[in-house]
Amino acid sequence: MGIATVNPATGETLKTFTPLTSEEIEAKLALAAASFKTYRQTSMNQRSQWLNQAANLLEKDAPKWAKIMTLEMGKPIKSAIAEAKKCALVCRYYAENAEKFLADVTVATDASHSYVSYQPLGIVLAVMPWNFPFWQVLRFAAPALMAGNVGLLKHASNVPQCALALEEIIRAAGFPEGAFQTLLIGANQVAAIVKDDRVKAATLTGSEPAGQSLAATAGEQLKKTVLELGGSDPFIVLEDADLEAAANVAVTARMLNNGQSCIAAKRFIMVDAIADQFEKLLAEKFQALKVGDPMQEDTDIGPLATPAILNDIDRQVQKTVAMGAKVLLGGKPAAGKGNFYPPTILTDIPPGSPGMSEEFFGPVALMFRVASIDEAIALANITSFGLGATAWTNKPEYRERLIKDIEAGAVFINGLVKSDPRLPFGGIKRSGYGRELGVYGIQEFVNIKTIWIK
Ligand code: NAP
Repeated sequence: MGIATVNPATGETLKTFTPLTSEEIEAKLALAAASFKTYRQTSMNQRSQWLNQAANLLEKDAPKWAKIMTLEMGKPIKSAIAEAKKCALVCRYYAENAEKFLADVTVATDASHSYVSYQPLGIVLAVMPWNFPFWQVLRFAAPALMAGNVGLLKHASNVPQCALALEEIIRAAGFPEGAFQTLLIGANQVAAIVKDDRVKAATLTGSEPAGQSLAATAGEQLKKTVLELGGSDPFIVLEDADLEAAANVAVTARMLNNGQSCIAAKRFIMVDAIADQFEKLLAEKFQALKVGDPMQEDTDIGPLATPAILNDIDRQVQKTVAMGAKVLLGGKPAAGKGNFYPPTILTDIPPGSPGMSEEFFGPVALMFRVASIDEAIALANITSFGLGATAWTNKPEYRERLIKDIEAGAVFINGLVKSDPRLPFGGIKRSGYGRELGVYGIQEFVNIKTIWIK
């Protein structure tokens, strides 16, 4: 697919973009390298002021940024406005805390003074997905810029106007020219940039194949990477759970962003005692959701971002059903224009089917029944992913087991798995490595330099 804005609600191509040529990429790399030399000398205080100003612009014009997001990737406008505002939060968080996170740390040794100093690396390449087109970028850019790095963004090919808007916001906030640039390029142009000596590190949020490809190139060059990849998060409901509260959160957990979130709850693992009741509650709540034009304030579910995603989810559902799963709700793409897929619930997921092992990137809940907490944990850990997990229980002994035994980068008890600027975010297993956000996020792309003075 070329670089273009295609309205997912109608299929209409609204704007196309020509990928940068090698000469144009070279000019941007040269500018980034030159910018780094002076940008790294700027004070934390100055960077904070710029980042706070970026937060102000994100917040002030949230409806404007939201419209671009919704137009390009189809998320409901109310979620897009919330996303722009959440981006302001991450900017303010790092504007306020970066200096503390990167302050020298004295370590007593045989030296008269020895300490750790955090220094910027240089140009960091960020390869980003379309699903949270502002948030994913700013949760990388805010800490990277505060640490004194400069950023190059290769955004997903279906959100070019989001990518350009992000560069515009960062520039308008006062950051120097070249501190953060968007590269309108295809995925096939990424490897050459990773190989360039001036690029010191890379981060990718996206699918496994994209992560493998970037990490392989970076590995050849011995360059640091952070990978935030897919997930098939379990949502475990035990017998003592508050079912109404769990079902309400389950709707958001599965349907947020039209079901296209890495940390969406994708597999609902219920103990037999409450399974009928929970399934019924969830089906009622799914049925009440309004599917339609994502620009309307009251729409809950818009179209999937691209026809390819619609085809993928349709194929996964059909195959899982052909292997024996039952359709409790939905199960087929909506007729008519746009990439619409209805809220869907599949039960009786057979072993070996896509529903058991693959990531479903759309509004499809996969329901599983188990006899005990042991079976719930074993099923939760059965996939190759390890991003997030939710479990609903009030029993301390259950919580302890879930926290200790679930293989994931995050376990949330009685709540929605979400990213929060204050907490580290990332996965284990094939969901990736490294962390974004919190103190850990800002320390990924720095030289942790040891200083020893006799
Ligand atoms: P994708 O196809 O991997 O695309 C993500 C980005 O990688 C895009 O900019 C894409 O560019 C680029 N890309 C694709 N192939 C590449 C390659 N071989 N080398 C270098 N760059 C490459 O991912 P997606 O399907 O759009 O996004 C959904 C996936 O992202 C899901 O699996 C989701 O779980 C995951 N995700 C993870 C997180 C997290 O934090 N863990 C957050 C959000 C999404 P083009 O658009 O030009 O192909």
